[in-house]
Amino acid sequence: MVFADLDFLEKNFIHYAKEDTQSKYANKDQVPTTPGQVKMMKELAGQVKDYGLESYYNEKTAFAIGRLPANAAGIAPLGFFAHVDTVEYDDRFPVRPQVHRNYQGEKLALDEANGIFLDPAEFPDLLTLKGQTLITSDGKTVLGTDDKAGVTGLLAALKYLHEHPEVDHGDVYVAFGPDEEIGLGGQRFDPADFPGVEFAYTLDNGRPGDFEYETFNASAAELKIKGTVVHPGEAYGLMVNATTIMTEFLEALPKDQVPEKSRGHDGFIMVTDAESSVDSARVGLIIRDFDWDKFLAKEDLVRDLVARLGEKYGADRFDLHLRRQYENIYNGIKDKPYVVNLALDAYEKAGLTANVQTFRGGTDGNFITQKGIPTPNLFNGGGNYHGRYEYVTVEQMDQLAELLVAIVSEHARQSREGRDERPLEKYW
Ligand SMILES: [Zn+2]
Repeated sequence: MVFADLDFLEKNFIHYAKEDTQSKYANKDQVPTTPGQVKMMKELAGQVKDYGLESYYNEKTAFAIGRLPANAAGIAPLGFFAHVDTVEYDDRFPVRPQVHRNYQGEKLALDEANGIFLDPAEFPDLLTLKGQTLITSDGKTVLGTDDKAGVTGLLAALKYLHEHPEVDHGDVYVAFGPDEEIGLGGQRFDPADFPGVEFAYTLDNGRPGDFEYETFNASAAELKIKGTVVHPGEAYGLMVNATTIMTEFLEALPKDQVPEKSRGHDGFIMVTDAESSVDSARVGLIIRDFDWDKFLAKEDLVRDLVARLGEKYGADRFDLHLRRQYENIYNGIKDKPYVVNLALDAYEKAGLTANVQTFRGGTDGNFITQKGIPTPNLFNGGGNYHGRYEYVTVEQMDQLAELLVAIVSEHARQSREGRDERPLEKYW
C-alpha cells in the first residue's frame, strides 16, 4: 500500500543523499564537524516551513529544530530525531544515487569495472523488495541511507500531516542533528529546544518493523602503570617492570566476558589497546552491559583488580581513569511503558510486524534519554549501512512515513481515550 507521496520521497532522498554531510572526528572541536551538515540543516529548517512548522537552526548545538503546532488540545508534545551526517568516505567519490525501478531480485552491477555487485545471494533481504524502487550507491562509496532515509521519511510524514488537517495532533517537534556517526551530536542536544516534550523517537537504521529500546550501558577506562627502571645487571630487588604488572592485570581479566564470546544480552570487558615498556604501561578498555547491576559489577571488577595490584606493588604506581560513555535507553524507559506501547500500537496500526531488537551499541537516543526525554529508536528502512552496498527503497521510507503519522494520531487518540500503560515485558 502506498501511504504518502512516492515521487516526493524519491526526489527528496536523492537530493539530500547527494549533499556531502560527512561527520569527521578529526574536526571534533568544531560544532558541527563539517560545513556541509550546516547547509543541509538550514535547508531542512527552510523546507519544513512549507509544511506549517516553525523552525530555526540552533548555532550553539548545531541542531535544526521544527515545531508543528498542535491542532487539538490536551495532547502532550512528542518529538522525532533524524541525523543529517553520514560516515566519512573517500572524498574522490561523491555520493551518486542509482535508481532501479521495479526491482525484481536480480544481481545488480553497481561498479562493474571493479567487480562490485549487489547480489541477493549475499544479501538475501533484497529478495523481499521485489517490485519496489530500489536506490543504491554507484558502488564506489556510501549511499547515506543512514540517516537520510530517516530525514526523508520524516519530511514525508510532516507533509502528510500538513495536507491532512483532519488528523488530530499535539505539538510535534522535530530535530535534524549533526555528528551522530561520531557520537557527538546527541551529547550536544539542548532539551530547551524541545520544551515540554515528554518522549521522542530516533529514526535511525533497521528494517521496517524493527524497534529498539535497549542498548548497552557503556564506559571506557584507561589504566596507566608506572614501573621503576634500573640497569638490568643491577636490578635484583629493585626493578619494577611495568610490562610485567600490565601482563598480570590483563591475565586477571575475565576470559569469557569478551566481545568474541558475547551475544544477545551478554556484556563484556574489551581491551582496546595496550602498550608498555619497563618504565610505563597503558591499557585501554571498554565496558559494556545491558543490565545496570551487571554493568556496575564489571566496572567494580576493574577497580578492584587495580586496587589489589596496588596493594601488591604500591598504589601510587596505578592511575585508573574510568569514564561513563552512555547509559542504556531502557534505564530511562522502564517506568514509562507508554513510550514503548504507543510505538508498538502504531506499528500495528501501520500494518507492520514489530520486531523488538536489542541494540549492541549506542545511539543519539542514549544521550537524549539521559537528558530526560526517553527516546527509543524506530527504523529508517534501508540496509548495509556505512558501505558501498548501502541501499533503501522508496517504499520502505513510505512505511516509515506511515508509521510516524500513526504514532502522532494514535497518541492523540490515546490522549483522549486512555493511554496504553501495560507494563513492559521483562526484557530478558
Ligand atoms: Zn545513523
